[in-house]
Amino acid sequence: MILIDGAMGEGGGQILRTSLALSLCSGKPFHIINLRARRRKPGFKQQHLTCVNAAAKIGGAAIEGAAPGSQELMFAPTTIRPGHYNFNIGTAGSTTLVLQSVLPALLIANGPSTLILEGGTHNPFAPPFDFLQQVFLPAINRMGSKVEAHLERPGYYPKGGGRLRVTIQSAKKLRTICIHERGKIREQRATATVAGLPRHIAQREIGTIKQKLGWDEECLYIKEEPADMGPGNIVTIEIKSEYISEVFTGFGRRGVRAEIVADRVAKAALRYLDAGVPVCEHLADQLLLPFAIAGGGSFNTLKPTSHTRTNSEVLKLFMNIEISMDRISKDIWQITLSR
Ligand code: ATP
Repeated sequence: MILIDGAMGEGGGQILRTSLALSLCSGKPFHIINLRARRRKPGFKQQHLTCVNAAAKIGGAAIEGAAPGSQELMFAPTTIRPGHYNFNIGTAGSTTLVLQSVLPALLIANGPSTLILEGGTHNPFAPPFDFLQQVFLPAINRMGSKVEAHLERPGYYPKGGGRLRVTIQSAKKLRTICIHERGKIREQRATATVAGLPRHIAQREIGTIKQKLGWDEECLYIKEEPADMGPGNIVTIEIKSEYISEVFTGFGRRGVRAEIVADRVAKAALRYLDAGVPVCEHLADQLLLPFAIAGGGSFNTLKPTSHTRTNSEVLKLFMNIEISMDRISKDIWQITLSR
């Protein structure tokens, strides 16, 4: 039984999700204590419970300790059961984070799967649907799987009510890949979306993006979703390059001016553009797991975050893998996984 201290490093829910995914892939049971110790309200929230239940169902696992607020869990999987599953978080908790817990195992399962995930699809502090569809899945599909995600209904935080369908054709074994260059930029666009909020919010956001990035009008869009999906506001900057795509997302919040929301996301995109790397910080922490399952690989990215470093520590508890993070120039880091 692998013992995991949930207070290590970042001390958040990522440690749980990575442990669930790795336990399913390796068949190794684990015991986690101090779950989400560094979060304002430590322990299980509904989204994390859905992750555990989904992983337990797919992995035929015995579980002990999963309850709201609990800071401990024992998880012992048997075999991975690909198939058709429906997981409803029941709150606006992130559907893409539930997917993070179970997708790695289904990528190498011995059959196809379909997942219906209900809850939030565009949540702060989680991969938004557009990032999943345009960035993460195309990157991992280069390793031999065929995973597609369809947004059947958006679920903006805090209301939720979204629905995601994910179809997974597994690969018997994931191929190792290297992502060192992004190539020429092929397409770039920014979209400000409002649901149940005034259009001028989106107009001000697009005005800020135009000023900060200097993009032409044909790269700038405003989208109004039906009011009953709201309140919701996001700003998305998509950069499609020859070898990889990236998506940067800002989330509107009560009390934060539209110009500030747009300014933050523009700065994140500019940092990525200026550094010339292919992989941004979020994709970096999310690629570690599929790369480890493939048995190696390498990518260039921005300075590793505490999420990336924590994820790599959890990986080493489950797998026999070396992970190096080397600074190769001012803003470029190379992360390499090898056995
Ligand atoms: P919890 O809040 O449940 O304790 P946590 O703190 O461990 O979770 P988060 O910081 O919420 O986790 O990050 C969860 C995941 O979401 C990480 O893999 C991170 O890369 C990803 N993520 C967060 N924001 C974005 C974003 N804007 N675009 C893409 N991915 C994102």
